[in-house]
Amino acid sequence: MLTREEIRSWPKAELHVHLDGSLRPETLLELAQQERLAHRLPGRTPEEIWQALEAVDRSRSLEEYLSWFRYTIMVLQRKEALYRAAYELVQDAARENVRYIEVRYSPILHTERGLSLEAVNDAVLAGLQDAERDTGTRARLIICGLRDRYESYSFRLAELAVAYKGRGVVGFDLAGGEAGNPAKLHVHAFQYAREHNLNLTCHAGEAWGPASIKQALHDCGVHRIGHGVSLQEDEDLLQYVIDHRIPLEVCPTSNVQTRVVPTLAEHPVRYYVQRRVRVTINTDNRLFSRTTLTDELWRCHKELGFDEPTLKWIVLNGFKSAFLPYEERKALLDEVLPLLGASRPAVRPTLGDG
Ligand SMILES: [Zn+2]
Repeated sequence: MLTREEIRSWPKAELHVHLDGSLRPETLLELAQQERLAHRLPGRTPEEIWQALEAVDRSRSLEEYLSWFRYTIMVLQRKEALYRAAYELVQDAARENVRYIEVRYSPILHTERGLSLEAVNDAVLAGLQDAERDTGTRARLIICGLRDRYESYSFRLAELAVAYKGRGVVGFDLAGGEAGNPAKLHVHAFQYAREHNLNLTCHAGEAWGPASIKQALHDCGVHRIGHGVSLQEDEDLLQYVIDHRIPLEVCPTSNVQTRVVPTLAEHPVRYYVQRRVRVTINTDNRLFSRTTLTDELWRCHKELGFDEPTLKWIVLNGFKSAFLPYEERKALLDEVLPLLGASRPAVRPTLGDG
């Protein structure tokens, strides 16, 4: 049996976490007080807010789960608030030894008080970069288009992502209510990002069947899949995902909360690991799912029986699937492998710089 502390001490990578879903309850309250919006929060103290969030577990659908974001989005409309949320998220991750983190959000949700998309993004990037400098945890950004809005919005966000490529933004994603909002309606946004050699991921197979994953992969050309819970329903597609080593960004607690799986014990992630799908484990939303990356791995250990080698393999999958340039990713892997008591295969090319 592993201890939670052992898992906490391992170097880890997190690839799927939403900025607006991961505020500290104290920060949510303070920002709401500053904006005179505290009366709209579901609690008057951080403890009360934390307790009120237990209701998230009783969400009846992904849409109901997503409705909780109204509390955080209303306080994230100023540069200082965005900076603080980004900074603290990296700080929280660093405290549990996350060495690499990709934070995602949709800048368009933070323009209600007149900030431009660029001003929003600059504030978030500044928060991530300052936190990286102070903690040593590498932090990068993914920009999300929104499924339930017009494609013109997603396209504008893809343009923004491309404009910031090489300056902290490493990818483009599509998030929001999945059922009834097919990814293929946003194909031009993905195409634009792909033409500019940006990394792509997409929430898919969370609240809709494998057809959604197929669209993400084949119509939109994504490199990773967010969630992918319904992948098990299509054996041929599952084999394709295995063969092409397409990473899945699995978020166990979130998937139970949104009723995508009835219980964690019934989550297909166990089957995916058995089939050697490139599984990564993530928090999705540290506030609304009231979790950390350590907790998610710990739950996989306790409730799914993942042993130490399996969990370490998953942790390494996280580093391997990072949207970092290959050389940087390799250097990061070389840094963490010995800390996980693992080593690289002995057979490798010996040619020098060519
Ligand atoms: Zn997500």
